[in-house]
Amino acid sequence: MFNIAIDGPAGAGKSTIAKEIAKKINFVYVDTGAMFRSMALYLLNNNIDPENEELVSSSCPDMDITITYVDGEQQVILNGENVSGKIRTEEVGKTASTIAKYSAVRTKLLELQRALASKEQVIMDGRDIGTAVLPNAELKVYLTASSDERARRRVKQLEENGMAADFEEIKADIIKRDEQDMNREIAPLKQADDAILVDSSDMSVEEVIDHIVSLYQERA
Ligand code: C5P
Repeated sequence: MFNIAIDGPAGAGKSTIAKEIAKKINFVYVDTGAMFRSMALYLLNNNIDPENEELVSSSCPDMDITITYVDGEQQVILNGENVSGKIRTEEVGKTASTIAKYSAVRTKLLELQRALASKEQVIMDGRDIGTAVLPNAELKVYLTASSDERARRRVKQLEENGMAADFEEIKADIIKRDEQDMNREIAPLKQADDAILVDSSDMSVEEVIDHIVSLYQERA
């Protein structure tokens, strides 16, 4: 079994790149951010204050999250509803980062993430995959880019999904979210000691994909 962990800050291009690599080398792509986002969506929909750890923790058993694949695309099912589209807003992303600090939230998703990686060869992206979820992954990449570049990409992605986006606002959100993700106590965003750093600021998507695929081929 060969598993690939891709971690890095918001907007580094992890999902775009991991998705393409999965197709090329016939791995299953697992987007763990989508799982945190679906929990955030549940809380927003049910007017549960994400800052209230006790309340969020006690709501965890009420959220049934499963992952399925349609035409090779990951779908997140929250209590029977496919929420894959609804979780792609900035509000949901910010709320996900707020609740990702809580141990009850992380414990719930850790099990699901490890179960997926034990069944298939996965390329899994997130914040703590190389450090906490799959510490024995055969290849670990820490993918980053400057905050300006990441904000530009996020704006483009939101616009492509039909949402209006303001560059300065998105950039400020990204910086705040990274700070929150890097400074939390449990499983903070951090490059694993054995992860390879890839700075994609001046690389095209294709260059990043080719680079990571060649790292995989060297090890496989
Ligand atoms: O990657 P994405 O923007 O979808 O992730 C949303 C949030 O979920 C992140 O900002 C982070 O707080 C949290 N997350 C996490 N651990 C992961 C994946 C995402 O804490 N493995």
